[in-house]
Amino acid sequence: MDLLWDIHQQGQISSANQTADRAENKADATVAEIARLQRRIERLALCCQSLWELLREKHGLTEDELQSRILEIDLRDGTTDGKIRTQIVDCPSCGSKTNTKRSLCVICGAPLPLKHTFEV
Ligand SMILES: [Zn+2]
Repeated sequence: MDLLWDIHQQGQISSANQTADRAENKADATVAEIARLQRRIERLALCCQSLWELLREKHGLTEDELQSRILEIDLRDGTTDGKIRTQIVDCPSCGSKTNTKRSLCVICGAPLPLKHTFEV
C-alpha cells in the first residue's frame, strides 16, 4: 500500500513540477515583453520630447498650447482618459465602417489613411 501511495505522490510531484516550469516560462516571457515595451515607451517619449523642443524653439509654441492640444486630441473620442482610442471611420473607397487600427479595408481592401501618426 505504501508503494502505491509513493507512486501516486511521485506523480503528483511530477505534475506540480511541470506546472511550475510552465509558469516560470510564462513569467520569463512576460518579463521580457515588459522590458521590450518599456524600451519602446522610452524611445517614443524621447522622440516626443525632441519633437516638442524643436517646435518650441523653431516656432515659439508654448506649454499651454501643447497642453490645450493634448486635451483637444484626448477629447476627440468623447473621453478625457489620456489615451488615443481607436475610432470608427468610413472607408474612403467603399464607405464601409472600419476602424483606425486597420491599414486596409476588410471589405474592399483599399488602403486606409492613418488617423493618428503615433497610433499603435
Ligand atoms: Zn472599403
